[in-house]
Amino acid sequence: MTGIDIKEFSVHNSRFTILKILKQAEEKFRMSGVPNPRLDAEALLSRVLDIDRVGLYTQYERILSEEEVNNFFGLVERRNKREPLQYILGNTEFFGLEFVVTPDVLIPRPETEILVEKALNRVKSYELGVMSKNKKNSKLRTPDSELKILDLCTGSGCIAVTLAKEIEGVKVYGVDISAKALRVAKENARRHEVEERIRFIQGNLFESFTIHCSRITDHGFRFDLIVSNPPYIPSSEINFLQEEVKDYEPREALDGGNNGLSYLKRIIKEAPDYLKSGGSLLLEIGYKQKERVFEIAEEREIYQTPVIINDFAGIERVVKLNIR
Ligand code: GLN
Repeated sequence: MTGIDIKEFSVHNSRFTILKILKQAEEKFRMSGVPNPRLDAEALLSRVLDIDRVGLYTQYERILSEEEVNNFFGLVERRNKREPLQYILGNTEFFGLEFVVTPDVLIPRPETEILVEKALNRVKSYELGVMSKNKKNSKLRTPDSELKILDLCTGSGCIAVTLAKEIEGVKVYGVDISAKALRVAKENARRHEVEERIRFIQGNLFESFTIHCSRITDHGFRFDLIVSNPPYIPSSEINFLQEEVKDYEPREALDGGNNGLSYLKRIIKEAPDYLKSGGSLLLEIGYKQKERVFEIAEEREIYQTPVIINDFAGIERVVKLNIR
């Protein structure tokens, strides 16, 4: 017999090295308009091979097994249909911590780290929250009485867990209407070993704390700080969001009603009944919602002048409302 062995030839030719397969996936993503094509291809391959990015760069010529190739293309296919990378990987980073994410929860965003930072600053400035001065990077402490923080619409628990991790002796209450989301939040609290400091409650905003149906505490229970990143996208704008968001993230975590303000409005109106005097409300808001949010706060007549904090893109993103 002469000529080449077809089988041998095709096997040889279909052999993928790390570099070759990365290029192929990158090209596929680029063609279909997936943002960050190379980065995502690398993240997916890192997952399949269980090595970090640097590991990929140092082994560009490594030949992959058929199983590795198939697993990788399976993930590439999912990402190509615009499933968010974080759902495929099952985790994401927030405030330097790793969080489990599933399609039951909103993927934590970098902007929300600003809210956490402001909450930590607020705690630092409370009389009862003193920073240990002698140690750098030491955790915040609340030595005298327990500091109570409420996180409404806790979702993945990224805000609640981060605050619990950063503030010693704090008691955080994380509320969400979705039982499925709370399962993810609890898992995150467990992984970061702060279960003792957080109580997760299924409920609609403040309902679990109201006088008449308080399953949690007696009347008079108040928080030092209330934080929330509620759904604030106007319903009519959801269909214009990128596919990753509109097709995959939970709509109930995004949709803020007609003008996007329905949750923000309820929270601003009701929060004073659950805040200690001198307490604060910190809220994440959406594009161009500041004016209206300020008006709602001013109508309540119990808050000091509202303060706005911009995000990295210069968009007005976090509102701070202190009780008079
Ligand atoms: N608190 C979570 C976050 O900030 C979830 C917010 C939400 O579901 N709207 O990511």
